[in-house]
Amino acid sequence: MKVRTVEHVADLRRRPGSQRPVRLTVPAEALGPLGTSAAVVPPEGEVDLDAVGEATGVDVVVTGTLRFPWEGDCRRCLQPVSGTVEAEVREVFEPTPVEAETWPLDGDTVDLGPMLREVVLLTLPLVPLCSEDCSGPDPERFPTTVEGEGGADEGDDEAPPDPRWAALDELRFD
Ligand SMILES: [Zn+2]
Repeated sequence: MKVRTVEHVADLRRRPGSQRPVRLTVPAEALGPLGTSAAVVPPEGEVDLDAVGEATGVDVVVTGTLRFPWEGDCRRCLQPVSGTVEAEVREVFEPTPVEAETWPLDGDTVDLGPMLREVVLLTLPLVPLCSEDCSGPDPERFPTTVEGEGGADEGDDEAPPDPRWAALDELRFD
């Protein structure tokens, strides 16, 4: 799939200090496979950038929010989980980019695609959980406590003595 992720910024560069919205929504599959060992962006999901571009003289700074859906397996119970990531971005595009820090500004255009891809990969959940208190892989063997069922008093030193047992306590043969 071919989707344009190139943004023309000649208008910004003509007027240093000027700002304007930079918005882009692309299908995840247009950015290549987006996933880690813990989570993936479904290919049909959309990666959405809602940002502002600002010319600062030589470079162009894109500041805003990146949103995208993700899917994975809960790290504890292995059930499928999904969610949406919202990541704040502030990325610099300049004619002579610094490796791993800034992105190329090629004439009057910037390609947002590689930046989107990198931010997605860096912000996918590392430890997906179905819920913060997921109890683990086997709820049958490790049930959460159910109140009102018998046996709750056993072994509980704090509980007041049951009057029914008080008589037995006095039946001592010592
Ligand atoms: Zn879970």
